[in-house]
Amino acid sequence: MAPPDSRQAKTKPAPDRSGDRVTVLLPLPLGRGYTYGVPADLDLAPGDFVAVPLGPRTVTGVVWDREPEDVPAGKLKSVLERLPAPPLPDVSRRFVEWVAAYNMSSWGAVLKMAMSVPAALQPEKSVRAYVAAPDPPPFKMTKARERVLAVLAEGPARTGADIASEAGAGASVIKGLADAGVLARADLAPPPAFEIPDWAAEGPTLSTDQQTAAEALCKDVKSGGFGVTVIEGVPGSGKTEVYLEAVAAALEQGKQALVMLPEIALSAQWLQRFRARFGVAPAVWHSDLTGVQRRRTWRAVADGQARVVVGARSSLYLPFANLAVIAVDEEHDQSFKQDEGVIYNARDMAVVRAQLGEIPAILVTATPSLETDQNVRSGRYSHHLLPVRHGGASLPEISIVDMRSDKPERGHWLSPSLVEAMKKTFAAGEQVLLFLNRRGYAPLTLCRKCGHRLQCPQCSAWLVEHRLLGRLQCHHCGYAARQPERCSECDAEDQFTACGPGVERLAEEVAERFPEIAATLAVSDIINTPARATELVRSIEEREVDLIIGTQIVAKGYHFPHLTLVGVVDADLGLAGGDLRAAERTFQLLYQVAGRAGRAERPGRVLMQTYMPDHPVIQALSEGDSAGFLEAEARDRQGAGMPPFGRLVGIIVSGTDERLVDAAASALGRSAPRSAEVQILGPAPAPMAVLRGRHRRRFLVKAGRSVNIQERVRHWLRNTSLPKKVRVQTDVDPYSFL
Ligand code: ADP
Ligand code: ZN
Repeated sequence: MAPPDSRQAKTKPAPDRSGDRVTVLLPLPLGRGYTYGVPADLDLAPGDFVAVPLGPRTVTGVVWDREPEDVPAGKLKSVLERLPAPPLPDVSRRFVEWVAAYNMSSWGAVLKMAMSVPAALQPEKSVRAYVAAPDPPPFKMTKARERVLAVLAEGPARTGADIASEAGAGASVIKGLADAGVLARADLAPPPAFEIPDWAAEGPTLSTDQQTAAEALCKDVKSGGFGVTVIEGVPGSGKTEVYLEAVAAALEQGKQALVMLPEIALSAQWLQRFRARFGVAPAVWHSDLTGVQRRRTWRAVADGQARVVVGARSSLYLPFANLAVIAVDEEHDQSFKQDEGVIYNARDMAVVRAQLGEIPAILVTATPSLETDQNVRSGRYSHHLLPVRHGGASLPEISIVDMRSDKPERGHWLSPSLVEAMKKTFAAGEQVLLFLNRRGYAPLTLCRKCGHRLQCPQCSAWLVEHRLLGRLQCHHCGYAARQPERCSECDAEDQFTACGPGVERLAEEVAERFPEIAATLAVSDIINTPARATELVRSIEEREVDLIIGTQIVAKGYHFPHLTLVGVVDADLGLAGGDLRAAERTFQLLYQVAGRAGRAERPGRVLMQTYMPDHPVIQALSEGDSAGFLEAEARDRQGAGMPPFGRLVGIIVSGTDERLVDAAASALGRSAPRSAEVQILGPAPAPMAVLRGRHRRRFLVKAGRSVNIQERVRHWLRNTSLPKKVRVQTDVDPYSFL
């Protein structure tokens, strides 16, 4: 295919000789690359970043190792230039193709993620520096000039600022000497962006279990080759210490390591530990970096200088020069699933990336996902278990609080037994975590007179009151408004009332019951920068706060030695939705929250408030029986042919015009393939029937594991013509069913 062009008559056509053409993939959702001519003086190889004309624009793409097409000479346009950046490695190119094929996206849309930093493809600006000119013209000497020349008499070129401070001279002195030709300008290569971590630094002395796991990982890293190892262990069992050994092994080989963490922006404690172990900070990669940081990091990863990258999902698409291992910490975490744009699961794609690069992958978790657990059972993945907490610290005892009998007072959410346990903990000078996975003050606001509920104008969702911000917010689209004074339905004034608790409301109850206790809110609206996360961690570690009220952001990976009581305010919250992974997700989250209690020498306690004390998830949690839970859950899923025992693809049809969306959904329903192997459910209004003003209908495609479900769906969608204004998104292995 030649790129579309309205002005092709103006460009000079390149002669159509074979070998003088290349395929260039552009970071746009456009098929599989275009054919361009190669000017005689340009020698191009696959992976080279090039500038090419596309219509009236110039765009950057990558030379792709696919046969160029026969484009008539008159239509062929030429590559404009090769950009001065290291080529996109072969593995990265194969990875782009693989991710696109599996997730039913275009190559170009995936390439876009691998080319997220256009500035990194340009040469880095060198730093202006000075040396003493070899043959200076005659000039007037002063004391200050003398000092400057003395400084420059020895050593390499230095920046004006460095010279000024070493010589104790003003900037004008240096400028004067440069203007007079006594100093010559020199370009200084920019300093390396990242220092090499000290892999030889002594790590902790490992326990026997830890040692066995670490040795196996190091052996894999050194021998190379693909394989997946699961490191499973209770919170605090030293999983991080173990995989850091694998990172050290990669460093020792002179290679790179990637560690993927959920919510990396907030992992202040992890970064501290890395620095304590290896002496320097790793390169970090997440969406909150500045443009300069992104540029430097991308480039340093590409030329192999950044040796350890710790990152979020998108770090998978960095152009690693010689990656030796990928570790995915908290592999079960749902935030590895990207739900917008190219929809993919970064945990699964990390395994693919490792396979393509012929390197080991490490999946780390206290509560394996069912997918990972099945892969261990079937022998596809190796497995190491760390069954005990480091240093003999005991696991917390988890008790159920039956809210049907242990009732809180009206308008309150803490049961008498939880309040009692909090009192005792504070009296002992220890800390408490109250966990409620609900931001804001109240999840629902309604009119006392007529029952009208305040809803988002753009989504099928209630507005959540955020009292600290003085706003009502939609958690799906970000819509925000002040609370109205009058009800739009019955015109009653000042009759709105908050229903149910969010963390802010819980903070109110706590302040009323424990006025002397220092409490802090840990929610993503407040702890929204790495600096704030660091400050939160510090204030807890230094015991400036006695009580933390938090959502899931406090569930992950933190160690607070003085925290001995965790109160789960509403253990049933995640079980309500009833989607495929509701039980699994709730188990993982609450197990992890429970793991925050009692580290070091102090044993911890967890109280779980529930109205469903007999629910299998609650029972498994109270017995600490994660294997039993996984088995029961696997049985259920297997019976229903659900993942990981069957395959699912979600299809979302959406648009602003409801009738068009319905018509398109019906058309798809009519053309749905009928076969015994593939079952198609829908179309049905999505649970979020309207999102950001778009109407949504859903299909769920279900098939056995041996069926190439992507191929079936592709065929179906390709053979159904739909109006342009309707968007069809495919979600392979869906996690969200909204
Ligand atoms: P996990 O990742 O399983 O939650 P960590 O690796 O974070 O566990 O270990 C929990 C705590 O115990 C950390 O403070 C860690 O430094 C410490 N720790 C774990 N193993 C050892 C060891 N062998 N020697 C010293 N400290 C250890
Ligand atoms: Zn909304």
